Amino acid sequence: MRLLLVEDDAMIGESISEALTNENYAVDWVRDGKSAELALANGVYDLLLLDLGLPKKLGLQVLKEYRQRNGILPVLIITARDAMADKVGGLDAGADDYLVKPFDLDELFARVRALLRRHTGRAQPIIKYGAITLNPASREVHLGDELLSFSAHEFSLLLTLLDPPERVLSLAELEEKLYSWDHEVASNTVEVLIHRLRKKIGTDFIRNVRGVGYKVSIS
Ligand code: CA
Repeated sequence: MRLLLVEDDAMIGESISEALTNENYAVDWVRDGKSAELALANGVYDLLLLDLGLPKKLGLQVLKEYRQRNGILPVLIITARDAMADKVGGLDAGADDYLVKPFDLDELFARVRALLRRHTGRAQPIIKYGAITLNPASREVHLGDELLSFSAHEFSLLLTLLDPPERVLSLAELEEKLYSWDHEVASNTVEVLIHRLRKKIGTDFIRNVRGVGYKVSIS
């Protein structure tokens, strides 16, 4: 899952970006409203975390124009403005949720998970597909009764393929979901991860759709 963080405060931006990276998200961090628009235009993100008080263009304006362009990403406003009018204005401008600084990181993580699952059309917090049960909050994966162990990127790849399942994603799309700008990625990295997942879950679980990409399948 790839998130765009828009925050001009260096300390807050760094702490949020680091915390979400530790939670296995690929995070790109920009510091002003114009850069946010440029980043949004490439369309690889699953969620936007948006500060309101920003240089070059205010967060609320970025949000309004993004929704006018029919941008569908879930948007979580993160701001120090705790006035009721700002909350109402942000939500009515198209934000999906609102978090007032300072906040507890665990609350941020929970809100991000909630927004992501609603975005993929999932209401259940636990993902079940075939014999696989994946808990995004605890990051536990079971195959039947057996608890499996994964590296951070193996887990992210599995989550991307399962949420929602049976969607075909190309190697390039998977790479975009797993790695932020900061990462140098070798050309066969995602294929290596797929190979490792297949060894743990079963070769047939991740199908190659010839010429298109990969998907999970139990049929
Ligand atoms: Ca700010």
